[in-house]
Formats: sequence, structure tokens, C-alpha cells
Amino acid sequence: MKGKNLTICLYGNPILRKKTTSIKKIDYQLKKIIADLKETMMQQDGLGLAANQIDASVSIFCYNPHGVGIEQEPVAIINPEIIKSEGKEEREEACLSLPGIVEVLMRPARVVIKGISEDGKKIETTASGLLARVFQHEIDHLNGLFFTDRLSATRQKMLKKQLDQIAASSKKTKE
Ligand SMILES: [Zn+2]
Repeated sequence: MKGKNLTICLYGNPILRKKTTSIKKIDYQLKKIIADLKETMMQQDGLGLAANQIDASVSIFCYNPHGVGIEQEPVAIINPEIIKSEGKEEREEACLSLPGIVEVLMRPARVVIKGISEDGKKIETTASGLLARVFQHEIDHLNGLFFTDRLSATRQKMLKKQLDQIAASSKKTKE
């Protein structure tokens, strides 16, 4: 596994602002992206990771259903879509593409998402609490959004300098 490029795209990288492409066929290339996505998430101790965060602009995310630090196979969902959301909940959010930023954000407390499993089956999953938060956060990524876009204008203004710094370091690592 050594020598593999498992870097995470940071805020400022244009791929993270582009809506990802819907998957038509699960082929070898896609399976490779899924494997890289899972491996990168586990290496970074993440709860979820969207494919565009590893430079693949396709509609897939993976998540760790058992929480960080537990050695379990992560799950990938292809073409995920929120079909129902209910309630409201404040919760802390952070992002591997936004190092150093942790903010409390209000979002729906429960969601139902639909998508396709890795073996090509149609699936529907209901989530609440932390998992509902992970699903919403990752689906935002696949649509070119960051959780910070959902903060109040005042909060966003206060974070601007930090965001600009991340964007500047993102450019540097690309060179
Ligand atoms: Zn994120």
C-alpha cells in the first residue's frame, strides 16, 4: 500500500466546487475509486469521505458505520440522494478538506437517503444523529458544497481569513 497517493483535496481546489457526475456503470475503474476512497478515509480517521475529496468527480461517498477507530469495513453509496428529512438538530461539524475548522451547525436530525450499493442494488437507508449528519455533509460535497456554506453570513465572514489560508496552502501543494 505504500507509495499510493492518498491526499485529500483541500478547500480552494476547484474540483470541490463542481457537482459530481452520476454513475451509470459499476466497472473496474469505479471499484478502484471506491477502494481508494475507503482506504483514504480509514487512514485519516474520517467518518465519511466524498469521491471529489480524493480528486474523482463522481457521485460516491463512503462512511464508517461504526465510528472512528473501529476496524470495520466502510460502506460506499453510489448516486446518493436525500429523499426525506425531518426535525432539527445542532451538531459540531468538521471536514478533512477544511483542516482546523469546527463549527456548530443546525441541520435536519433525521434523513432517508436512496442510492445504489457497491454490488449494484438499489438501497434506501434511514439515519439519525451522527450518521444523518455524515450523510448530509457528504451529499453536500457531491453537489459542490461545504458545510461552511450553510453557516450564517456573520460566521462565514469570521472564518474568511482561515478559509483563504487553506485555499492558499491548497494551491501550494498542487505546484
Ligand atoms: Zn467534508
